[in-house]
Amino acid sequence: MPLIEVYEWQHSAACTGLDSSVFFSPSAERGAAKHLREQGAKAVCARCPVVHECREHALSVREPYGVWGGLTVEEREQLQRVPKAG
Ligand code: SF4
Repeated sequence: MPLIEVYEWQHSAACTGLDSSVFFSPSAERGAAKHLREQGAKAVCARCPVVHECREHALSVREPYGVWGGLTVEEREQLQRVPKAG
């Protein structure tokens, strides 16, 4: 989702102008409703030309909420738990 602080890649974001409720969950959201909303957000991300930049940003700053770069909060946490090889 676009931030107030502008990053160059956000000018090309597929989510520009969309309601943020597509990407961020209401506090009481659970189960099927959460899954459906996340799938909708991921569908937008899947056609986004800056999905890689968005994902890298979200991982680097450990965004705690919302779908970013096609990844949910849980998916980002999972990736950040995987130890780096080497
Ligand atoms: S990857 Fe998804 S959240 Fe990120 S800018 Fe694109 S549409 Fe928005």
